[in-house]
Amino acid sequence: MHSTRSLTQWFEQLERFCAQAMSPESLLGPYDAARERKRIALAASFGLTGVQVALEHGGFGAPYSIKAKLAQRLAGVDFGVSMAVINSQNVADHVSRWLPSAVSKRWVPGLLGGDLIGCTALTEPGAGSDFSAITTLAVKTRDGWRLQGEKAWIINAKIADVFLVYAQTQLGAGAAGIAAFVVEAKRKGFERSGDAFTSVAAFSSTAGFRLQGYVARDDEVLHAPGLAFKRALESINGARVYVAAMCVGMLEESLRIAQAYGQRRQTFGQVLEQHQGWRWALAEAAVDLEAARALVHCAAQAIDEGGQSQDLAAKAKVFATRAAQRHVPALLHAMGAEGLRDTYPLMRHVAAAQVATLVDGSTEMLLERISKNLKI
Ligand SMILES: Cc1cc2nc3c(=O)[nH]c(=O)nc-3n(C[C@H](O)[C@H](O)[C@H](O)COP(=O)(O)OP(=O)(O)OC[C@H]3O[C@@H](n4cnc5c(N)ncnc54)[C@H](O)[C@@H]3O)c2cc1C
Repeated sequence: MHSTRSLTQWFEQLERFCAQAMSPESLLGPYDAARERKRIALAASFGLTGVQVALEHGGFGAPYSIKAKLAQRLAGVDFGVSMAVINSQNVADHVSRWLPSAVSKRWVPGLLGGDLIGCTALTEPGAGSDFSAITTLAVKTRDGWRLQGEKAWIINAKIADVFLVYAQTQLGAGAAGIAAFVVEAKRKGFERSGDAFTSVAAFSSTAGFRLQGYVARDDEVLHAPGLAFKRALESINGARVYVAAMCVGMLEESLRIAQAYGQRRQTFGQVLEQHQGWRWALAEAAVDLEAARALVHCAAQAIDEGGQSQDLAAKAKVFATRAAQRHVPALLHAMGAEGLRDTYPLMRHVAAAQVATLVDGSTEMLLERISKNLKI
């Protein structure tokens, strides 16, 4: 358990990172891979890429709810950066959790120190929501597994060194045949692909990659066939809650910015804030923000307590993504033309809220899950 002092220091580090590495200027302009690598390396040097990694593996060993707070704070400035930092840390977390330390130490110190960047690849050009339909094939050989296939829409794939890749080991076996492997970008048979990402995906270095005869050694099997699907579903509740927390962060920051603007912008002889009709959009946002915060808090707590979190995680994500989708554009509108300036994050947050409805389970997939759990 962390002392209040060490947690306070960690939050101070987080604030320092935001001040040093997330200025509006550094979030503008064309995509720059070197800049994004440097940003994650800096996050690592501030201890932000190992928040949930156990102390004995060199991490901070904090509870899940602290990771959700990290996601929320970073996304208030930029959703893409938040996703990039969290996704790299997921790799350190999973590798240190599931592999023997003699194997995981090949990557974990590098991921925690910022020399290595990680990402997790489930999605393919032909399979997103329907994860059991992936066709990247892993064929057992004498000394390992030969991987063949293509992944798409993977956060950090433009710059990552260590990839957790989900692949099918038995065509037609669906979930039961899926295994997961640690893949290194520097090895033969790995090639990055898919430059055409949208601007919102830019700061998370989202791209694809191809595996052509890539050989993963036997000790690089993260999850054996039959276990990978189950473990992916177990960890997805955490992913859903941090995406919901990111939406809370974006909404919170948009509300703060719009309110501050309303206190200085004059129309018809008074500041915007004095016009009742103007204030109501902010009040509507504040209502949903509070409800989203409460749902995220309950879901994060359920994860920390090791209880049933599936239903709460799904509800938190549906509610928080919708709240961001509804209110960020309304808050941008409340700032008039000023809200469109890219020195503010609101335009980026509008697009990010849309992305948030897709990643780690689309709204429809979550509603399906919630409807199956319904007990009223
Ligand atoms: C910026 C960004 C970053 C991403 N990062 C990652 C990453 O790091 N790793 C990774 O593995 N993936 C990542 N993804 C992929 C993401 O997880 C998928 O986009 C998501 O799973 C949805 O899959 P899809 O886009 O193929 O949509 P599809 O599965 O093709 O679905 C299309 C639409 O139909 C709906 N739909 C599908 N099936 C049903 C059904 N049965 N009933 C009702 N509606 C349905 C969906 O909800 C969606 O609205 C990322 C995506 C984006 C945009």
